Amino acid sequence: MSYLENTSSEDTACPLCCCRNLSLYHRDPHRHYEQCALCALVSVPQCYHLDRDGERAQYDLHINSPDDQGYRQFLSRAAGPLNERIAPRSRGLDFGSGPGPTLSVMLEEYGHSVSLYDTHYCADVRVLQDRYDFITATEVVEHLASPGEELERLWGLLLPQGWLAVMTKLVISQARFRHWHYRLDPTHISFFSRETWAFLAARWGSCAEYFDNDVILLQKPA
Ligand SMILES: [Zn+2]
Repeated sequence: MSYLENTSSEDTACPLCCCRNLSLYHRDPHRHYEQCALCALVSVPQCYHLDRDGERAQYDLHINSPDDQGYRQFLSRAAGPLNERIAPRSRGLDFGSGPGPTLSVMLEEYGHSVSLYDTHYCADVRVLQDRYDFITATEVVEHLASPGEELERLWGLLLPQGWLAVMTKLVISQARFRHWHYRLDPTHISFFSRETWAFLAARWGSCAEYFDNDVILLQKPA
């Protein structure tokens, strides 16, 4: 019997691909985690998601800034490979720019221009009407309740040959997941793996490139 045949959960569809074939991946004292048979996303059922204020309170605990050299070093692992692939003076969007936008500052130092969007800190939806040469989403996708819808929207905002640069820690195995600190953050609700990115890349006619295991770049076809 599959897990879902044995539960009254309302969340019976994968939040990335809408497949209904989900199975229990892990359970801890606070919540449980389901994996999709089609795209391999591991997600936390909606009943465990924080409300908007609770989420914001967690984000406010982690205020980063462009003056923090360690944070810059962390983000350079995405900024460097992206900068090598985009044309000079490209236009981009930093989706989920957070309370102390830093990646955008770094990319502007390379000569690019970057618009910001963040549902909590910079919710100017007009920037989601534009088209971009690149979009960055660093430490963002693991927070998305509807990653399928949000990533499709971002992909749609990219110009042909545009680049999507994502930074998120990846699920390696069920055994590793059990001891993984990354899953303990109550705002982390969508966990990707290389299989999930391969699923999206195939859907988009693209190919995922990896840097340091947690930076993923995908180029939109011409
Ligand atoms: Zn799925």
